[in-house]
Amino acid sequence: MMYQIPMESLDRLLAAIAAQQKLYLPTDNTAGEAVYTEWTQGAALSKKLNTLRSAKDFFFPQIQNMAKFRREGKKIEVIDDRAEADDFCIFGVRACDVRSFDVLDNVFLADPVDTWYETRRKHATVISLACTRPGETCFCHTFGIDAAKAGGDIQCWETKDTFYLEPLTEKGQALADALIAADGELLTQCGADQEALVEKETERIHKILEKLPLYDLKAEDNRERELELFRSKKWKELSSHCLGCGACTFVCPTCQCFDIEDFNNGETVQRYRCWDSCMYHDFTLMAAGTPRLTQTERFRQRFMHKLVYYPKAHDGLFSCVGCGRCLRKCPIHMNIVKVMETLKEEKE
Ligand code: SF4
Ligand code: SF4
Repeated sequence: MMYQIPMESLDRLLAAIAAQQKLYLPTDNTAGEAVYTEWTQGAALSKKLNTLRSAKDFFFPQIQNMAKFRREGKKIEVIDDRAEADDFCIFGVRACDVRSFDVLDNVFLADPVDTWYETRRKHATVISLACTRPGETCFCHTFGIDAAKAGGDIQCWETKDTFYLEPLTEKGQALADALIAADGELLTQCGADQEALVEKETERIHKILEKLPLYDLKAEDNRERELELFRSKKWKELSSHCLGCGACTFVCPTCQCFDIEDFNNGETVQRYRCWDSCMYHDFTLMAAGTPRLTQTERFRQRFMHKLVYYPKAHDGLFSCVGCGRCLRKCPIHMNIVKVMETLKEEKE
């Protein structure tokens, strides 16, 4: 079932959702970048295509407390001070970021389940938004993602005058039902004519996608070429200018590496985790040293993981969703597209 609301009433819809549960949406910051912000009256949905940092922050925050320890003599008390999470709603998530949750789920929800991640996932309702104007750095299509049908718990489209919503899961339908129960005049059920308009909008988006420079980029199944690619001489050339800054990993919706550290405040020890990057020279540093001595090895690890190791472990699913963030943020203009094209050339 599909619903609609006039675009001019979008604020009313946001207020109605925020009355049900905490609502986060992309808004423009002072630097003109879209960032997820908690909705307050008057907050305007960003018109940018994608947020600076991805929606993975909601489930896997950059810094997260895990537990506390208190010592009394020889006794160590472990304090799990997690509060029960409230339900929350993430609005305006693009199709690429919606797919990134599948990539993260495969890691964090696999046995043993990461309960910090699981709790946030369970409490979230994902409201996606079709990309009205996909951009030149987008290549989600390469990984079978449809920017015009973004998925999630409720998928949405915006046209010049109308906002459309389609609940896809029980959670999404429950939110739609709650909105209707609170205000019977908020959402209007779509008829066949309106559904045809949405179909027309998806076709319009598909036509834009077909004209994008990366539309023809193909994701090769490289699972059988693991050793050959690992030994490729191309890594040296590809990584020769990499600064090891980690920007590509921090903006990436599917990167999932973290470090666990302890902070002793004198009374208790706070254990927390924070994002880490396989591009850093001290990543997975052990007493015996680091397993990857050069930037070339670290660079190779990042892309082998996204394009070969992860698909090998997860039925061919790539650990890249073509969001294009790394294309925009790498200071030396190196990115996964150049890596994919180079590896393909080598095969040919
Ligand atoms: S590797 Fe780049 S394009 Fe792919 S998901 Fe990560 S940031 Fe997006
Ligand atoms: S953003 Fe570019 S320079 Fe920085 S670590 Fe990634 S590939 Fe290297």
